[in-house]
Amino acid sequence: MPMSFEGSCHCGAVQFKVNAEPPAAAISCNCSHCRRKGFLLSFFPAEQFTLTQGEEALRSYKFNTHKIAHRFCQICGTEPFAYGANPDGSEVRAINLRCVPAIDLDALELQHYDGAKA
Ligand SMILES: [Zn+2]
Repeated sequence: MPMSFEGSCHCGAVQFKVNAEPPAAAISCNCSHCRRKGFLLSFFPAEQFTLTQGEEALRSYKFNTHKIAHRFCQICGTEPFAYGANPDGSEVRAINLRCVPAIDLDALELQHYDGAKA
C-alpha cells in the first residue's frame, strides 16, 4: 500500500496530500450538509495533512456550532476537505474521499453515521 495519497478540487486549483495509507472505509453521513454534498469522509490528524496548493482559492463555510470550517474552492465549488478539532482540542482534517482519484469509491466499506439524529 502507498503510504500517502493526493487529492484535489475539480478545477485543480486546490491540491492536497495526506501522509497515510488510503483508507478502505468511509463515513457516509445523512446530516443536512453531508447529504447535500454527497461526502464520503475519512478523518486524519492535521499533522498528516498538507495543503500543497490553493490556499488563495479556498473559502470556508460554517454553520450550526461553527466549529468546523468546510473548505471549498471558490472557482469550482468543490469541497475537498474540512478543518475541525477533536474534543481534546487536537486538530483534525476530514477528507472527502470523492476528491481522491486513486481511491476506488465502490470498494470502500461504508460506515453509516446518523448525523441527522445526532
Ligand atoms: Zn476548484
